[in-house]
Amino acid sequence: MQDWESEEPLFIESAHGVFLKGRDGKTYYDGNSSMWLNVHGHGRPEINQAIVDQLGKAAHTTLLGLTHEPAARLAERLVEIAPKCHTADPNRELSRVFYSDDGSTAVEVALKMAYQYWKQSDPDGERTHYLALSEGYHGDTIGAVSVGKIGRFHSIFQPLLFPVDFVDSPGGCPTADGAILPLKAALQQNPGKYFAFILEPRVQLAGGILVQPDGYLKQVRALCDEYGVLLIADEVATGFGRTGTMFACEKEGIAPDFLCLGKGITGGYLPLAATLTTPQVYSAFLADYTEWKSFTHGHSYTGNPLACAAALASLDLFKQDDLIHALSSKIDHLTLSLQRFLALDHVCEIRQCGMVAGIVLTKDKTQGLEYSATDAIGPHICRQARELGLITRSLGSVITLVPPLVSTIAEIDAMLNILYEAIRNGTRSREELPID
Ligand code: PLP
Repeated sequence: MQDWESEEPLFIESAHGVFLKGRDGKTYYDGNSSMWLNVHGHGRPEINQAIVDQLGKAAHTTLLGLTHEPAARLAERLVEIAPKCHTADPNRELSRVFYSDDGSTAVEVALKMAYQYWKQSDPDGERTHYLALSEGYHGDTIGAVSVGKIGRFHSIFQPLLFPVDFVDSPGGCPTADGAILPLKAALQQNPGKYFAFILEPRVQLAGGILVQPDGYLKQVRALCDEYGVLLIADEVATGFGRTGTMFACEKEGIAPDFLCLGKGITGGYLPLAATLTTPQVYSAFLADYTEWKSFTHGHSYTGNPLACAAALASLDLFKQDDLIHALSSKIDHLTLSLQRFLALDHVCEIRQCGMVAGIVLTKDKTQGLEYSATDAIGPHICRQARELGLITRSLGSVITLVPPLVSTIAEIDAMLNILYEAIRNGTRSREELPID
């Protein structure tokens, strides 16, 4: 906060394609997709027009006790594209959609629904806890914070949080068989204790771009089935193409019991979120009025029609631009191009999952020394990158690059060139600082 106060804030005046235009007259690459949201570029006429058309009809009407066409049509489309159940059991397909308004609320909905599901379908059950991954991040509301475990974001709120057991992050583990052991042990030791297991599938972003080994997710699904634990896939960040398929779960051919969506759902234009679940879960909330089994949860702007219209236009653009197909060559190019960063004196590791990259910095490669908080290396490098025309963010000493999915190979190269310069020069200028 002190740094924010002491620096001149950058006002963004307009945004087009992969560029942000500042009030300082400069143009910047949007190297973090405006916080992992932007899919088709800024100012796409098709999405703008869809919002304008809807604005001519209604800006907002509630989904509490009513509905509207954009919400109904979008629900249908989401169900069509949702990951398909590995058992082909219609009762376990993601065919029910509950709207809210941002990623955190999508997660809150899944957590509360899982809890209420068990209370109503197994009233004598003895489940008391959720299960989650260390280094996980699921949003900033208290439920989402409870199932998150990143010290600098979460630890101060500890006394306010509900009971959650954490298992080690699979990030960086070379094999799925090794990565799965902590989850297996927790379930073996405590069968019947958990409402649900929540994870960011394939990659934990905020935890430092921690990539899971192939096959981990499939084993997670199998274990949750074996122990009767609901699986919540938080695809708020990974959904809508970010990892190279429409949803990360698709890569391992599994469907969760809850799928949390946000961020890219509207192409990154307006706030909207959805939690998809199965008929199995849905049916536990059906009962006579007097039994009061419905899910009493609703936000004022839940399923906003302008946002739903933007989301429908975004899904049309996925088809029109054949975006998912186009991603594979961009991802391969990113993988190859990132390798040269390893030659830099202070880069010790590259992490990548689809169109998400993390460049890990180290104070001294030969001695394996990490940067300390006083080096503030992440913000320092991002400041350098901004000077050179790229907006991006750091997670500790991991510098991230999360370009809009629409970025061309030439644009990705331009972003990488800036980042390379920023890291080379920025780490050199930090070399005067003593090693502590
Ligand atoms: N879940 C994941 C995996 C996220 O990365 C985020 C945000 O970064 C959220 C949930 C929270 O989303 P929002 O910021 O829209 O509340």
